[in-house]
Amino acid sequence: MKHIEVEGGRFFVGRLHYGSDAMTEIKKFVVDKKILSGFFVLIGAVKSAVIGFYDQDQKRYIKRVYDDPMEVVSCVGNVSECDGDLIVHAHVCFAFEDGTTAGGHLFSMSVFAGEFFMQEFKGGVKRQYDDITGLNLFDF
Ligand code: ZN
Repeated sequence: MKHIEVEGGRFFVGRLHYGSDAMTEIKKFVVDKKILSGFFVLIGAVKSAVIGFYDQDQKRYIKRVYDDPMEVVSCVGNVSECDGDLIVHAHVCFAFEDGTTAGGHLFSMSVFAGEFFMQEFKGGVKRQYDDITGLNLFDF
């Protein structure tokens, strides 16, 4: 395993706006606060979402659209830099009214209610394109 040791920076507690797109709002937040790297956890409820499954052979995301009220059982993500841009990467697990769940790579979700904690790291974590997976992965 490649790794680096990071030192904790600022810690934030936040609430997302009703009707906002969570990924857009988190991206705006990290840009505004100049958070170059960190991680976050988020819980709440959403009105709709687009999530993806990465096809490892095709090296592309297969997207699924959900247009239902769902509980955000768990959403975890990180912030890093790639080619000078801040990247917010998150995965999510939703619960439907009947208790069944779905999850995957998060593209977008329309917030009904959302509470998050974000831990900044001092110094940046960078990503670089990886030929084997076709993904932009942490690069140390
Ligand atoms: Zn992902």
